[in-house]
Amino acid sequence: MTFSDLHLHPSLLRAIEGLGFVRPTGIQGEAIPPALDGRDVLGCAQTGSGKTASFLLPILQTLVSQPARGTRALVLVPTRELAAQVFDDFKDLAAHTPVKAAAVFGGVSAGPQEQAFRHGVNVIIATPGRLLEHLRAPYGRLDGLEFLVLDEADRMLDMGFLPEIRKILKFLPAARQTMFFSATMPPEIRQLTLEMLKNPVVIQREKPSTTPTGITQAVYPVSEDLKPALLMALFARGDIRQALVFTRTKHRANRLAELLQQRGVRCGRIHGNRSQGQRTLALDEFKSGKCPVLVATDIVARGIDVEALEHVVNFDVPVVAEDYVHRIGRTGRAEATGEAFTLASPEERASLQAIERAIGKPLPRVTVPGFDYHARGEQLEIPLAQRIAEIRRRKAEDRARSEARRERRGAGPAPVGAGAGQGRGPAAGRWRSRGAGRSPQGGGRGRAQGR
Ligand code: AMP
Repeated sequence: MTFSDLHLHPSLLRAIEGLGFVRPTGIQGEAIPPALDGRDVLGCAQTGSGKTASFLLPILQTLVSQPARGTRALVLVPTRELAAQVFDDFKDLAAHTPVKAAAVFGGVSAGPQEQAFRHGVNVIIATPGRLLEHLRAPYGRLDGLEFLVLDEADRMLDMGFLPEIRKILKFLPAARQTMFFSATMPPEIRQLTLEMLKNPVVIQREKPSTTPTGITQAVYPVSEDLKPALLMALFARGDIRQALVFTRTKHRANRLAELLQQRGVRCGRIHGNRSQGQRTLALDEFKSGKCPVLVATDIVARGIDVEALEHVVNFDVPVVAEDYVHRIGRTGRAEATGEAFTLASPEERASLQAIERAIGKPLPRVTVPGFDYHARGEQLEIPLAQRIAEIRRRKAEDRARSEARRERRGAGPAPVGAGAGQGRGPAAGRWRSRGAGRSPQGGGRGRAQGR
């Protein structure tokens, strides 16, 4: 099949040719014809399959051949990075058409987004939280909507967006064409498809939890404290030139980025605590090659599309097997080749086994020749218990010092249990009151927190 067989508008064919796409990918070949016929689509497609064009092209075809004013299509995505990515793909595909789009997501000023609504920009690509804020304002009307796309629905679920999605649906006209994409189909997503889709064509490109072909995967067993040294060894050997490196938590991403930079590896960082400006800059510097390494947490795993990304490195084994598939889906996109390396410590064995079960095959174990696996390593981060003990010790010292001062002045000791002490040691009391009811373990450990 070729793109001409799809009878697309000449302006779209010109853009496709400009992008160098020779023929439709599998999902494009299956989704575009029924979508052009007005059918709802349920696409179970993995990342890197070319699914973005499979929903943008049918929308553009209608918007180009039946021009009309107002917002006619809404694409909902889970992350800002994915919104920016889809927006870029849109600009490429719509380059020779008058159709305009706007990206609507949090972390940036809402003013220009409000203008996009007021001017009735044709296509809005949005994350759920910020979109809801606009829809609750008087100007946020989507009454004329003809197309709704829900992209990466399972990620929406992971990120706790399903309630927002249901609220957004109340603002949209019921008579519309809906295209729904999800890499996996957990029960909540299946239920949502029943609520949102009318007699959809179902496209199951590949079994969920399979990794894209064209990717060479390898596991590097190594002790936790030697992971930074092993990563440096892989860089030094020239095995890795450009890499997206994933860590389990934001804290580890920060520490690893600092450490790499100290050793002369230029790298950016991208995670949930970074501002939108910082994320965009890090991504641009990575894409342009200015920074050959980008350290990231899973929040970006689905949103990044870098042409010909050669390496994905799991500095930590993903705890959730699905995340492994999404992380390594960043390389080898659309039938290109790539390598995915996973550094795995003995403590991570169970997670690694879960991944191998999910992808249905064992991953080869590799060692780096000449690397001293018995060297003394270094701690990437101070363990949480140790950090807490250190804070307590400092507070106790402060307290002892101020009491000594007080006694020197003849004021006598401070009353025990004052403030938030509640009968515990003063330092512990202070910690609790600062945590505002949260346990100290709440910081940076859990899945959501760590992203
Ligand atoms: P997606 O799954 O939509 O994120 O697309 C993954 C990558 O494949 C992107 O870099 C697209 O530009 C690229 N792509 C999409 N369609 C095609 C095609 N028909 N031929 C070659 N590459 C494509």
